[in-house]
Amino acid sequence: MIIAIDGPAASGKGTLGKRLAHHYGFRHLDTGVIYRAVAQALLEAGADLSDEVRAVAAAMELDPEKFGNPVLKTQKVGDAASVVSAIPKVREALISFQRQFAADPPGAVLDGRDIGTVICPNAEVKIFVVADPHVRARRRTLEALARGEIADEAAVLADILKRDERDKNRATAPLIAAPDAVLLDNSHLDIEGGVRVAIDIVEAVRAGRSRV
Ligand code: C5P
Repeated sequence: MIIAIDGPAASGKGTLGKRLAHHYGFRHLDTGVIYRAVAQALLEAGADLSDEVRAVAAAMELDPEKFGNPVLKTQKVGDAASVVSAIPKVREALISFQRQFAADPPGAVLDGRDIGTVICPNAEVKIFVVADPHVRARRRTLEALARGEIADEAAVLADILKRDERDKNRATAPLIAAPDAVLLDNSHLDIEGGVRVAIDIVEAVRAGRSRV
């Protein structure tokens, strides 16, 4: 079974994906990390983020061993990722890695922006996670502070809104819910509450019901 979880920045889809994968014994891929790793390779090399040739080369040389690098979590790298991810050839170069991950047994949870629409349009379960931008900014600020980073909530909110705009309006694989995705608004849910709703959605699909 493939579970596709899409949604905007800081919507909580990553944590949800991880927890769902754990619950079902599936593998989990946070696809944002892939774009962040490509962006970080360019930042490290001092290259321009719009340099298509170098960005595609970085995408082809992707090293999953580096996905755990904590610098990938920073706002700077997330912002840079949203720039490189708008380059169609970069997205194309990353498709087979993601599809291969999804296809390997026993099942997989992938979270990102275009999993249900482009990467795995045949995923058995598609969840589109949303949350109020102010709530997302508050959560992301608290996470950054907990990591010992300096974070200003107003600046985090501005970044989230800018990123949403860029992700929704790009020509290739824009952030949009697949027509058969189930919407999960977690503005007023804590992590446990969100996980419970997501499990209910998966179970409804397994039981042959399209709705919870
Ligand atoms: O989800 P996360 O914040 O880690 O993603 C960083 C950026 O990577 C996003 O703003 C988005 O532009 C891009 N991304 C994407 N497609 C995905 C996952 C992430 O375009 N499947």
